Amino acid sequence: MKKTIRDNLEQVHKNMASACARSGRDIRQITLIAVSKTKPLEDLQMAYDLGVRDFGENKVQEILQKAPQMPSDVRFHMIGHLQRNKVRQVLPHVSVIHSVDSVRLASEIQQEAQRIDRIVDILLEVNVAGEESKFGFSPEEVMEALSSICNFSHIRVCGLMTIAPFVENSEKNRPVFQKLFQLYVDIKRKNIDNVSMSVLSMGMTGDYEVAVEEGATMIRVGTGIFGAR
Ligand SMILES: *Cc1c(COP(=O)(O)O)cnc(C)c1O
Repeated sequence: MKKTIRDNLEQVHKNMASACARSGRDIRQITLIAVSKTKPLEDLQMAYDLGVRDFGENKVQEILQKAPQMPSDVRFHMIGHLQRNKVRQVLPHVSVIHSVDSVRLASEIQQEAQRIDRIVDILLEVNVAGEESKFGFSPEEVMEALSSICNFSHIRVCGLMTIAPFVENSEKNRPVFQKLFQLYVDIKRKNIDNVSMSVLSMGMTGDYEVAVEEGATMIRVGTGIFGAR
């Protein structure tokens, strides 16, 4: 039988609670982002009616279609690779951009944010495992990128994001999450202006429980809520 969004959400909340119990964390420190890419508006509306307010999308076109049709208290998170020439279109519709992977992209966001007089929250995407196929700064590049981006008046760097490798056994990604957490703590200690390090976006359907145990403050779950794409 096909699992409903309601059942799935309940299961995810239970799993989050167990992971919190195992690691001595408070579930209120963790935001569940429902990744609704490719899914129809009815599915988003259903999740909304069940209390979800944070949605993750990876394509500008899809955000432009969906955002105006959802209630105004919904927050859209841009989690996919963002091209500089699409920043202007998408900016009014997103609350956090998780996928900032270059200083040039940050600079484009700064220009647009200044133009519309808004401070934009961003995360830096880090390719922790060094996968060729993935976007993101290498862990070694993050500090240098921050030293430029922290000067941008209309950008607030709120934290880090990573997409861990696809693995059968989620334990394999534990060292990836530990490494990102360590980087997050190291940067936080430096107390850089305009850099707050309060968000750690890591963990997807296959590995969010491990990510929660290792300090995630945002998890991005698609399949585990809406079913297979
Ligand atoms: C699709 C996607 C997710 C969700 O993936 P699931 O495995 O379906 O939970 C999370 N993060 C990013 C960046 C994605 O593109």
